[in-house]
Amino acid sequence: MFLENASRKGWIEVICGSMFSGKTEELIRRLKRAQFAHQKVEIFKPRIDVRYSEEDVVSHDANAFRSTPVDSPQNILLLSSDVDVVGIDEAQFFDDSLVDVCRQLADSGIRVIAAGLDMDYTGKPFGPMPALMATAEYVTKVHAICVRCGNLAHHSHRLTADDKQVLLGDQDSYEPICRHCFNNCQESKPQEGITPATQKTAK
Ligand code: ZN
Repeated sequence: MFLENASRKGWIEVICGSMFSGKTEELIRRLKRAQFAHQKVEIFKPRIDVRYSEEDVVSHDANAFRSTPVDSPQNILLLSSDVDVVGIDEAQFFDDSLVDVCRQLADSGIRVIAAGLDMDYTGKPFGPMPALMATAEYVTKVHAICVRCGNLAHHSHRLTADDKQVLLGDQDSYEPICRHCFNNCQESKPQEGITPATQKTAK
């Protein structure tokens, strides 16, 4: 699907899905393949994501890749001169300027591969991901398996009561579930736990 063509013109790829769907593993797979072909690869992640290691992009299977934590997408531009491929992990945590930064990188001939959560724990599109998906040449949705019924899962269901959009966590804080199990959870949830936009009027 991804033809690394000889002309080496830039483009944007997005890898998205829920937690535990293998987004980062897929990002690392593509980056390693480019590196093996002697292409110069740089990988960035938002400084906010320091769950495992300050400098490594580490997927859940501990398949590490050296990365640079940055405070803003602008820093990615500054650090990407003389690079063939730019990888961006946890792209959902960057602000909307990431979309324009990816466009500038691709326009200048760089292959950009951005991985991130497509939806937050409430099922809403997450940060710059929707705009990034719209402007990318290639979008890959990867899926987890629903821990409740075994269907394909695309929701990251939060297991704690915290209602901040950004809550870094792992198996203890989230579980991947499918559309139907997600809807069942929403229905059985107390109303105060739901954001105002989706809150039903009291009966
Ligand atoms: Zn399910």
